[in-house]
Amino acid sequence: MSLINCQECKAEISDQATKCPKCGAGRSSIAGVVILVVIIVLTIIFMLPLFNGGVEKSVTEDQIKEYEIARRNGSTMDRCVRAGFVVAACSQEKNEECYKAWKATERKDCSAAGVPRY
Ligand SMILES: [Zn+2]
Repeated sequence: MSLINCQECKAEISDQATKCPKCGAGRSSIAGVVILVVIIVLTIIFMLPLFNGGVEKSVTEDQIKEYEIARRNGSTMDRCVRAGFVVAACSQEKNEECYKAWKATERKDCSAAGVPRY
């Protein structure tokens, strides 16, 4: 057992003590662990939206593939409906360019299908 200096008040405390008996400040090793845990938690919190963004992007890509199948094999109504799904996926992804482009496609396909609201 040896004496170390408190990080906060510089008092000499035992290296076995978990916190300074004089000022109550935590030992640096414990503070270090806490900081590490906080960094890991923050990293996970910041990484989650990126991960979700990736998932949403693949949803949009899937919807575009389904639209392509409908465009080749389906009726104009199928294309109208499928384009609507792509627009919804773009909107979820908060991708304005994607939304605008697919909204135009939806409008074109839906008016070709004779849907009155377009
Ligand atoms: Zn202290």
